[in-house]
Amino acid sequence: MRILLVEDEDRIASFVVKGLSAEGHAVERAIGVGEASEMAISRDYDLVLLDLLLPDGHGREVLARVRASKPELPVIVLSALGEVDDKVDLLDLGADDYLTKPFSMRELSARIRASVRHGAAASHIVSVGDLILDTRTRVATRGERAADLPSREFALLEYLMRHAGQVVTRQQLLDAVWGFDFDTGSNVVDVYVGYLRRKLDGPGQASVIETVRGAGYRVPS
Ligand code: CA
Repeated sequence: MRILLVEDEDRIASFVVKGLSAEGHAVERAIGVGEASEMAISRDYDLVLLDLLLPDGHGREVLARVRASKPELPVIVLSALGEVDDKVDLLDLGADDYLTKPFSMRELSARIRASVRHGAAASHIVSVGDLILDTRTRVATRGERAADLPSREFALLEYLMRHAGQVVTRQQLLDAVWGFDFDTGSNVVDVYVGYLRRKLDGPGQASVIETVRGAGYRVPS
C-alpha cells in the first residue's frame, strides 16, 4: 500500500517508516499541515496516518481538507494521550480510527488492515439516478447543483435514498429522522422536503422527491 505518514517527530517517524517498509508498504512522510494537505490531495495514497500536533497547525485541518476532496481515503489519527479531549469529535470529522501513542508496530498493522477493509466494504457515497450523497461531508450533488445539508435534511434525504423507489410514509420519516413521537398532524416532514427540493431541484427538472398523494414520499430509483 501507499501510505502517507504525517508526523513531525523524527523518532516516531523513523520507527513507523521502518516497520511499514518491512511489511512491504511504500511510505512517504510529511511534517506540517501545509505539506501534508498538499501531498494527500495531489498524490495517490491508500491510507493516511495523521499526527495531531504539527509545527504549523493542527492535524484536524489536514483531516478536513482530505475529507473535502477525498472522502473515501482512510485516515488513522496517531496521537499522544491527552492531546485530544474528544475522540468523538475527530471521528465526526471523518477519521476512520484512532491510535494512542506509544503503540506497537503490531497494533498499527492491525489497525491499518481493519481500516482498509472497512473503507473498501462501506462506501460513504449513496447514489440514486443523478443524485449523489456523500455521507461523510453531508454534501448532496445533483448535476450542477451541490448543497451542504444540515443534519435533519441530510438524514431525511439519506433515508429516502436508501429506500429509493419505495413509498415512505410521513410517520416512517418522523420515526427515522426525528426519532420521537411527533404529533402526526405535524407538517415538519413536508417543510423539510420543501427545503431539499429548493436546494436540489433545478428549473424545469422533475423534483428530487416525489409526493405520493395520500401515502408519503418517494425518491424515484
Ligand atoms: Ca507531533
